[in-house]
Formats: sequence, C-alpha cells, structure tokens
Amino acid sequence: MKKIAILGSTGSIGTQTLEILREQKDIEAVALAAGANAELLEKQVREFKPKIAALWDEAAASSLRASVRDLPVKVLSGMEGLLEIASMPESEILVTAIVGMLGIRPTIAAIEAGKAIALANKETLVTAGHIIMPLAKQKNVPILPVDSEHSAIFQSINGEQGNAIHKILLTASGGPFRGKKKAGLEGIQVEDALKHPNWSMGKKITIDSATMVNKGLEVMEAKWLFGVELGQIQVVVHPQSVVHSMVEYEDGAVIAQLGTPDMRLPIQYALYYPARRKLSGEKLDFYRLSSLTFEEPDLDTFSGLRLAFEAMGRGGNVPTAYNAANEKAVSLFLGRKISFLEIPEIISACMESCKFIGQPNVTEILETEAAAYELIKGRWGN
Ligand code: NDP
Repeated sequence: MKKIAILGSTGSIGTQTLEILREQKDIEAVALAAGANAELLEKQVREFKPKIAALWDEAAASSLRASVRDLPVKVLSGMEGLLEIASMPESEILVTAIVGMLGIRPTIAAIEAGKAIALANKETLVTAGHIIMPLAKQKNVPILPVDSEHSAIFQSINGEQGNAIHKILLTASGGPFRGKKKAGLEGIQVEDALKHPNWSMGKKITIDSATMVNKGLEVMEAKWLFGVELGQIQVVVHPQSVVHSMVEYEDGAVIAQLGTPDMRLPIQYALYYPARRKLSGEKLDFYRLSSLTFEEPDLDTFSGLRLAFEAMGRGGNVPTAYNAANEKAVSLFLGRKISFLEIPEIISACMESCKFIGQPNVTEILETEAAAYELIKGRWGN
C-alpha cells in the first residue's frame, strides 16, 4: 500500500486525487488538509480515515475536531498543520494541491523529510524554483508534475535517455476569450471568465486561464522543472486541448502526449510513476477528432502572458511580484472590485515597483509578496 498526504484535498485536484484512490484501492491517504471546508473534509475523513486532518482556519478546525471526535484522527490547523502533514513519517508522497504561495513552506518541509512531491501547486516553483529544485536534487527527491502540460512534457522525455530538450512546445487552450481583442475584454464579468471551454478547475486557475496568466506561470514552472532556458519554451495555442504539450529534439523530432482533457490522468501518472494504470472514462477517438489546430498567442491582448516572459527574464524576486500581484488581483476581480483588464495592469505595476533581489530566500519571497499586496491595497483597495 502506497501512502500519500494531500494538501488541498477538498479542491478540484484534491477531489480528483481521491477519486483515483477510490478506483485503484492500493493507495492510502494518511493525511488530508484544506482551507475552511470542514463539511467536505469531514466526509473525506470518514471515508479515507487519515491519521491527520488539517484546516487552515482555526474555527473550522475546531468544528471539525468536534464532529470527528468518534474517530482516531488528529485535527490540526494553520501553517503548523500543513508543516506537520508535509513531513509526517508515514507518508511517501505529498500531493501539493493548495492554491498560491502558501505551498512553499510545506513543499520545502516535505523535501527536507525525503518525500516525493506530486506538484500541482505551480506558484511554489514560480516563486521559489531556485530553492526547491536544488534542494530536491540534493535530497534525491523526485518532483512529479501534476499540471497536465508538464506531465505531458515529463511523459515526452521519458525514455529519451538523456537526449537534450531542444524546445518545449507548451500548449494553451487560449481560454474563453481566445480571438478577442483588448476592446472586446472591457466589461467582462466574473461569470464570463469562469466559463472555461475545455477544463473544469478551481476558480483561481480558471481566471488565470482566461487572462493567460496561467500559461505564463506554466512557462516559469517548465523552466524550473525541466532545466531549460526561457528561449527554449514556446507557447502554442491549441483550442481543442488534445495535445497536452510537446518536446522538440535536436533532430527536429517532436514527441507529444495526447489525451482527453481529464486531470485524473496526470495525477495518476504522478502517483504511480513510472507505471501506467487503467483509468476509467472516455478515451480519444481519432475517427471523431475533426481537426487539431495550432496558432500563435496574442501577447498584446493577453499581456499577462507577455509579462510572465518578462518576469522570468528579469528573474530573482520579480516572478514573485508577478505571482503575488496576480493572486491578489484575481481575488479582487472575483470579489467584483476591479475589472478584468485591471489584472495585468496590477501585475505590471507590482513588477515595476519590485525591489530586485537576485536570489531571494523564503523570507524575502514573502516580503516581496507583502510589498505587492501593500501597493495594491493603496491603489486598488482590499
Ligand atoms: P481549488 O480552488 O479547487 O482548491 C484549492 C484547495 O486548497 C482546496 O482544498 C482548499 O480548501 C485548499 N486551501 C485553500 N486555502 C488553503 C489554506 N490556507 N490552507 C490549506 N488549504 C487551503 O484549486 P485547484 O485544485 O484548481 O488548484 C490547486 C493548485 O493546482 C493550484 O496551484 C493550481 O494552479 C494547480 N492546478 C490545478 C489544475 C486543475 O485542473 N484544477 C490543473 C493544474 C494545476 P477549501 O476547499 O477549504 O477552501
């Protein structure tokens, strides 16, 4: 029995991870953590019987503690809970499926404790890739990508026996506003931005897909995961979301991974790597695939993607300013306090005002985040 711990078990990735456990029956969830959703976490605790459950929110944790007192489960709260779960001796793999930079400290703690990381939380690598990747190498710990594009790249380099990557072709659906120009994005409502054409995901990443900031974060994630230069990553808009990403080699051969848009596949691949297991659900039917199309991204309309290349190019703590600004801007947009087009404006302003640090440590990363939040609070509100 393989033993895993899940941070973010009540979210989109977390619940799909638990679906795999339900289906495969040979992985045990020894710990589950979420933010404040005590009701769903209680159901999960009753079904999966973890040794530890944690909720970030103290009041929600107290209510969970009361409602599961008939079970032998320890209930924790706050960062302490996440850190204890990350390094608990019983688990072999930590699935990081929480949203945002909150994932940095638990991911570092898990690597320090020798756990394999099934990484969904891309914000961790975007902001702290220079800390996480060397540490994982030093501790001989695999970072297994859960993001579908990065899983596709990972699958496309599998078996290449050290052949160097010439280029990564990172595919993007283009989101709900593909083909629109900037003027067409004025007055976009939250409901419009939450309608992703192909994938069903959490709210934050769905908005990130609509602005194409998600693709920007994925470019930075790919750079760290696969050790390539920024110039070796090309974003290709592919509206059908069938080709999940590709790798081009020196000789021009391009290897891709294709499949239906189902996150359970990359999650399962990370959990059982290098083995492949049967997975229920629809498979690709090539007789019914009418066409696969590819186009260049519109970096003028989707300036969030252009800014990501700039942030990564500048390096240091600028990707943190980019990410922190985006996290706050998305939350303001979801709260209907700013417009859709203000999201990249806020990112740009925070990148400009960022005091550059070349190799930020965790404290400096968090200070950069706080500075971005402060700037946004002053200009756009809270
Ligand atoms: P969701 O919003 O669906 O879920 C987020 C999870 O994190 C929930 O379980 C939530 O708990 C928990 N959480 C929120 N705040 C805290 C906190 N302070 N402490 C502990 N747990 C917390 O997000 P997704 O599943 O969509 O995304 C998770 C990560 O995976 C993101 O980094 C995203 O970019 C990445 N990703 C997601 C994909 C997808 O298909 N969804 C695809 C590829 C990557 P609660 O329910 O209590 O709020």
